[in-house]
Amino acid sequence: MKKIAILGATGSVGLQTFDVVRAHPELFQVHAMAFGRNVDIAIPLIREFSPKRVVVQDVETKKAVQQQISNMDVLVGNAGMVEVSVDRETDVVVNAVLGSVGLEATLAAIRAEKQIAFANKETLVTAGHLVMEEAKKYDVTLLPVDSEHSAIFQALNGEQKSDVHKLILTGSGGSFRDLSRDQLADVSIEDALKHPNWSMGAKITIDSATMMNKGLEVIEAHWLFDTPYEDIDVILHKESVIHSMVEFKDNSVIAQLGTPDMRGPIQYALTYPSRQALPTPKSLNLMEMGKLHFQEMSFERFPCLKMAYEAGKAGGTMTTVLNAANEVAVALFLQKKISFLDIERFIEEALQHHNVIAHPDLETILAVDVETRARVTEKV
Ligand code: NDP
Ligand code: MG
Repeated sequence: MKKIAILGATGSVGLQTFDVVRAHPELFQVHAMAFGRNVDIAIPLIREFSPKRVVVQDVETKKAVQQQISNMDVLVGNAGMVEVSVDRETDVVVNAVLGSVGLEATLAAIRAEKQIAFANKETLVTAGHLVMEEAKKYDVTLLPVDSEHSAIFQALNGEQKSDVHKLILTGSGGSFRDLSRDQLADVSIEDALKHPNWSMGAKITIDSATMMNKGLEVIEAHWLFDTPYEDIDVILHKESVIHSMVEFKDNSVIAQLGTPDMRGPIQYALTYPSRQALPTPKSLNLMEMGKLHFQEMSFERFPCLKMAYEAGKAGGTMTTVLNAANEVAVALFLQKKISFLDIERFIEEALQHHNVIAHPDLETILAVDVETRARVTEKV
């Protein structure tokens, strides 16, 4: 029986993690859960799974939880997420919190040598070198939950790193894949939130529409698989059936396929290295699909992807700026304060203004993060 701490419990990945736990009560027990402010979603989960510890974003939310469930041990903020991540009783940390706010808990879980099911890509984008340094030092593997990275991780099973030629990430193209750049000028939030294949949280759905999600994933792949940017390709694949591939030096390509259902990669990260039956009965039916499509990715059509590659190659604090500017710009778009195309403009300006600092320590990263957020917020 593995005891799990779920960070980001009320989100899209968090809720699907509970589905996996429900399907395998003999394997998993929810020891702790952390969320932001969504008490209405959290309370029924606390009642159903009886975690010993709960973490919330602020004191008001703590009061709201304790009003409904008296004598509940409720911790607050980043310190709370760190505490449940290193808790002696926690075996596995599922890090599915949204944004670089998950960084400290990630570092803490690594230092406590926990099994980590890792969805929180913004953390690797903002401070990949620090996270991977610690992971190496403590010999901890981040088990990827992001479907592309789970696919690559599976394709690399049993292979030698020196035999890898390149990683090929697939991307569906997001909600606006069939629109030209001119048509993007006045698209609505409602349309941006309609992803053709995947059901995900609001921020990552917008990131998919701008293609920044694939950019963040390129940086995530760079760190997780210690692969130079030149050896990471992205191609459009609108069905999202091939979740990603690895090409080896003998030209052999290994791909991982499946239906677009995050419970697959979530469960694999929890049961690795073995597999279990998946709660959903729907398996991949290639005959039903008939055809799969592939298309070259265009940097002109998707400038966010280009910015992500460039920021990744620049390294240091450049990806911290990329991530922070993107987090704020997407939040402003979701609050209807800026237009869809403003997202990429805001990020571009933030990157242009920044003088990169090489090999930043945690303090520098946190300072650049705060500074970038303030600069981008000030623009509206
Ligand atoms: P959601 O927006 O659906 O959920 C985010 C979760 O994080 C919520 O539980 C939210 O709490 C919590 N949260 C946000 N801010 C804070 C904070 N300051 N302190 C504590 N908790 C906080 O996001 P997703 O589930 O879509 O994504 C989560 C992560 O997984 C992201 O990094 C994303 O890129 C990655 N990912 C997601 C995929 C998906 O299918 N959704 C696929 C691959 C990767 P609350 O709502 O209660 O405020
Ligand atoms: Mg993904």
